Amino acid sequence: MGRVQPIQHQRAHDYGHLIRRWRSIARQRGLQLVPYASASSYELFHAITRRPVEGRPWLYLSAGIHGDEPAATEACLEWVASTSLLPNDLNVMIFPCLNPWGLVNNRRTDADGRDLNRTYHNDSVPQTAAHKATLEGRRFGLALALHEDYDADGVYIYEARGARPYLAEDLLETASRHLPIDLRRTIEGRSARAGVVRRTMRPDSMPEHPEAFVLFFNHTDRSLTIETPSEAHIDARVTAHVAIIERAARRCLLALPE
Ligand SMILES: [Zn+2]
Repeated sequence: MGRVQPIQHQRAHDYGHLIRRWRSIARQRGLQLVPYASASSYELFHAITRRPVEGRPWLYLSAGIHGDEPAATEACLEWVASTSLLPNDLNVMIFPCLNPWGLVNNRRTDADGRDLNRTYHNDSVPQTAAHKATLEGRRFGLALALHEDYDADGVYIYEARGARPYLAEDLLETASRHLPIDLRRTIEGRSARAGVVRRTMRPDSMPEHPEAFVLFFNHTDRSLTIETPSEAHIDARVTAHVAIIERAARRCLLALPE
């Protein structure tokens, strides 16, 4: 991958710094930064391919719904800066940080104490409703939600049980060059195998829906949630996320076979 410029992660919790970097890199990569809501006086943006290439798939990425997971927000930006697939090979819609207040304050929740990743079942939270509204009518070849986990022993992935081929094992293999795979047999109460939690997603699976549910029900056949271990060094966590995004993007481009 041709890197545009090295990205430093020391200011990973500085939302203004994040968006300033996005403005500059988005321009270089043919993306447009579009404001879609505000929350706790922070403006929320998504980045979208300015001139979509016809016949190419769309990739969805999001990060920062939990503010204490800074490798996710950094990796999203770093992938855009470093991939050779933009702007000509792939169309993207990216939510660089869904919870700016959380990022600035290093908190999982928003300013009102809500876990935003449990607010997608209705429209009671304005920034979640606005996020869903921007997705209306869109279909993605693949959707990745980037996360981190303090309890993790390594990288792991939730993958919606549905369309084949499944991708999680392949993405984990890519990540394993940078971080170990989480080999626990049970992760967050669900049975896991070699870092993969393959889950059935139905509207009644959980009363409070995460973002991944809305994506899977309405916008993609492939919804994956990527988790890196928060205790590892941030550079390795970012690199692992970037490697996963790049691999996923290339699979998306090939319409998934390999
Ligand atoms: Zn998270």
